[in-house]
Amino acid sequence: MIYLDYQATTPVAPEVARAMDPWIEEKFANPHSPSRWGREAAAAIEVARKQVEKAMDLKGGSVAFTGSATEAINWALKGTVENAGKGRNRIITVATEHAAVLDTCEWLAAKGIDLTILPMKGDGRLDLDLLARELDDRVLLVAIMMVNNEIGVRQPVSAISEMVHKAGALMFSDAVQAFGRVELCKGPDLVAISAHKIHGPKGIGALWMRKGKEPAPLIHGGGQEQGLRSGTLSPALCVGFGAAAKLADERCTRDYDHVQRLWKSALDALGPGWIINGSVEHRYPGNLNIRREGVDAARLIADLRDLAFSLGSACASGSGRPSHVLRALGLDYRETRSSIRLGFGRYTKQHELVDACHRLAKAALEQEKLDA
Ligand code: PLP
Repeated sequence: MIYLDYQATTPVAPEVARAMDPWIEEKFANPHSPSRWGREAAAAIEVARKQVEKAMDLKGGSVAFTGSATEAINWALKGTVENAGKGRNRIITVATEHAAVLDTCEWLAAKGIDLTILPMKGDGRLDLDLLARELDDRVLLVAIMMVNNEIGVRQPVSAISEMVHKAGALMFSDAVQAFGRVELCKGPDLVAISAHKIHGPKGIGALWMRKGKEPAPLIHGGGQEQGLRSGTLSPALCVGFGAAAKLADERCTRDYDHVQRLWKSALDALGPGWIINGSVEHRYPGNLNIRREGVDAARLIADLRDLAFSLGSACASGSGRPSHVLRALGLDYRETRSSIRLGFGRYTKQHELVDACHRLAKAALEQEKLDA
């Protein structure tokens, strides 16, 4: 199988698996218990926290581990609303956010939050003038991601954070697809990340919080993570996340250059007739979301079963719903149905990607012949 779904998840790095191994095979102590073994586990978790914080390279805050980025996002949004003073009751987000943000915002709207979902331009970027017109003294929080999971388009989150702060509001950013792949934008008060997108294990994420801007707890119990997020931490998962972050930090230029070369060779191999969805200029190049007139993308997936690629987000692919991100770019129903997402990264071999793209182009041409 040729794996081209790096936005859905990434293979665990061998270095990560090795770092986790003793914490699965031998060391089982509860990191919150006072025994020597417990303290050893707690110390390993603190090393991992520092590795994640160093790789994030954001100043003035710290990381709390969560069970996923989805949890971190729920916590950031709901916990900020919980802490809000009187008068600020508005959340602004954009139409291309991940479901974890959009669905949480909708849930908050049902509880009385005034929600504004801004439309996007045809290239998947936010019109900053539009945002400026919306920012008023009722805005509590603005939530805008750094790199989109479906189309790879990057938003100017540092500039947006400045605007948001001038309006006296807080800035949250979902950096799940940005972390470990591009330098994180400075400025947000709250940032969510996930280990399994950076060659770490599934089942662990984190929320970076600017000091003094911590959201109210979402999960109550034993008071772990400075009383902000209860629940026994898994040393294996934390150590794996730390090792993955350290590796991503060390290899970031090498990985990015590799991905850029892959992007160019994929486009060459696909040949003419494909249209790139979303901005090419403002994009993480490990995401190639493309469409082709008349192609049935679901049929391509069925015809090429030994290629792992996707129709959009992993969630959208499963649901059969047309991608809300592509719809937000102005694509019609047929165009969303003709779109595929190829995601590649550190362990993708150039010859495999080229082979996959040749086969995709051939299968698309065959569809055209059959439908003619
Ligand atoms: N946000 C974005 C942009 C994502 O791509 C994902 C994963 O698909 C998530 C949030 C959720 O991450 P997790 O799988 O850690 O809950």
